[in-house]
Amino acid sequence: MIASRPARSNPDPTGLELIAARPHLSMHAMDGLVMEGVPLTAIADALGTPSWVYSAGILRNRLGMLQAALAGLDAHVHYAVKANGHRAILRLLAAGGAGADVVSEGELLRAREAGIPPSQIVFSGVGKTAREITRALTEDIAQINVESAEELAMLSGLAQAMARVARVALRVNPDVDAGTHEKITTGRAHNKFGISLAEIPSLYAHAAQLPGIRPVGLAVHIGSQILTMRPYTAAYGRVAALLGELRAAGHDVEVVDCGGGIGIGYRGEPEPAPAALAGAIRSTLGRLGLRLIVEPGRWLAGPAGLLLASVVLIKRTPRTRFVVLDAAMNDLVRPAMYDAWHGIVPLGAADAVRPSSAADIVGPVCETGDTFARNRLLPELAPNARVAILDAGAYGSVMSSTYNARPLAAEAMVDGAAWATIRERQPYRALWEYESVPAWQTR
Ligand SMILES: *Cc1c(COP(=O)(O)O)cnc(C)c1O
Repeated sequence: MIASRPARSNPDPTGLELIAARPHLSMHAMDGLVMEGVPLTAIADALGTPSWVYSAGILRNRLGMLQAALAGLDAHVHYAVKANGHRAILRLLAAGGAGADVVSEGELLRAREAGIPPSQIVFSGVGKTAREITRALTEDIAQINVESAEELAMLSGLAQAMARVARVALRVNPDVDAGTHEKITTGRAHNKFGISLAEIPSLYAHAAQLPGIRPVGLAVHIGSQILTMRPYTAAYGRVAALLGELRAAGHDVEVVDCGGGIGIGYRGEPEPAPAALAGAIRSTLGRLGLRLIVEPGRWLAGPAGLLLASVVLIKRTPRTRFVVLDAAMNDLVRPAMYDAWHGIVPLGAADAVRPSSAADIVGPVCETGDTFARNRLLPELAPNARVAILDAGAYGSVMSSTYNARPLAAEAMVDGAAWATIRERQPYRALWEYESVPAWQTR
């Protein structure tokens, strides 16, 4: 077992510690919490809350750091669109040289809309439909990562019918424990993802015979929010051994897709450096004459975003101070779904320095799971005070729902001293725009 989650007894970092560890955030006596050069209060005033805000600078910096760490390898970053598929984010990362890893037709269309060329797009996922595969073949994307013999057969049939040849990587399930949350581990034998090590050689040979298929390599993705290099080294070591076996059998293996999954320090956990990931890749796959793909999502987008919320009221029970926010699990589901820890800091400079005491920070949705934090030290806050829920750039907005008929929140991007609205708050009428009432009810 890899101990990637801190023991419960570790004290939570304070708000000021969380801010100090995030280069795009600073607390100013007058302006309160500032992202790059923009006081977040200005955005909250203009857009209302809840609203998502992303730092363009952080997205750019992190992509640059990762690319620099991979220098010398024939490696290319394909951003995992599912972490945050906003076209402004895709466009920014594409301008920095990133391609895309998509897992659905919708993400493929988003990537194309953002100007990412098909030659920079890889398609992953365990259940691609015939329609999605047809779209991928029509667009002639770089590579399709296949997750089963059944999918391979389907792809062959579709490609043959379209007189196309699909470049295919087989996704290996290396049976490695990524030491992450059960709901985001993907590389264990009992998970639905990938093809077992034992089955790969015969399936690779089969793929080479199939019409419409050109096997080009292997793919592996073992999970998400991974904080140590050990599972990567283990998985890549197994892929390298497998690759040797395939080449010895006379197969061409040109590319290895190393997946994503690098974690971030939500609670001050030491975050793996890009150089560590690059090192794990170099030591296992670096000298095999391969083209390499890395597919980070969370690591690029997570720290860049936050969710602005306002305090609706403070509810005191004999046991607990409940800070009730206007943001909820329908906006940011990670705490409810994965027991995720997110830093929560006041926007106001005066609020930030008030004495702290334990509080449960919750949303207004009718579910006990609608809790952002339990027993968290937070300053006394009055109704209408604002807070930022940190590190919400990945698996935040994209996982939002309209549960409780709560419209999707607005989104903004900050770049230096400039900021722009990148999504309007969804209007109520949009909630029922595509509904209809049967004619017999209205007669
Ligand atoms: C989700 C996913 C990623 C990105 O995972 P992160 O943890 O966000 O880095 C990369 N590759 C594949 C195949 C995925 O499913």
